[in-house]
Amino acid sequence: MTDLTWILDPATGQLVAAGIASEETRALVGDLLPLGHELACGRPLTWVPMSATTGSPGTVLRVARIYHGSVIKGPGRRSVVQLQGCTLHCRGCHVPDTHDRAGGVALSVPDLMALLLDPSGEPRDGVTVLGGEPFLQSVGLVDLLHALKERGVHTTVYTGFTLEALLQRPEPSGRKALELADLLIDGPYIDSLRGQAGPWVGSANQRVIDMAATRFDSGIKPVSLPASPGR
Ligand code: SF4
Repeated sequence: MTDLTWILDPATGQLVAAGIASEETRALVGDLLPLGHELACGRPLTWVPMSATTGSPGTVLRVARIYHGSVIKGPGRRSVVQLQGCTLHCRGCHVPDTHDRAGGVALSVPDLMALLLDPSGEPRDGVTVLGGEPFLQSVGLVDLLHALKERGVHTTVYTGFTLEALLQRPEPSGRKALELADLLIDGPYIDSLRGQAGPWVGSANQRVIDMAATRFDSGIKPVSLPASPGR
């Protein structure tokens, strides 16, 4: 038996069934509702058109996709930026097109902010940064998280590294990014653990960490949020 999480998007009235795509779940959903669209992890049906930043843009991030209205990548309804480039090669990764570090589109942080927080009235409870692997672009990640924090935007950051591994990486920007994030969802995707995955995560080993409650200097104390219908 597979667990499904049902999420009603208050902005659109659409119902999302989050769980493992299997014949069993397709049959269950199809019995209850008209056929909808199947979303793969990190692959929305549509995304925002992007043009590379030109001129002297300062810090740039390589971006695979930007999309709005996600109700499965962190609390509430979120705008999402999926960064390009990952060297972790988790077996069964759903987004291998994000692995090439030279792929995607190079965007300055101001251009990326403009697309994420577009003025078209898109409702959002926060911004989520996915990969690829965001911490392979940690300098740009810091600038992006700083800009979002200045605007009072809640941030959720996914990473294929564990928090402990990130704290051992040599670049100071990685630690700074950890200090700026509100929520961190950490750990590699492990295909054999996907069946037990809770809300927001792809496999059961991944943790949802409240970064405001985590104290780096007195030992790592990640706080995993309890599961609740709101998640
Ligand atoms: S960290 Fe994410 S993008 Fe990278 S291989 Fe693992 S699942 Fe895929």
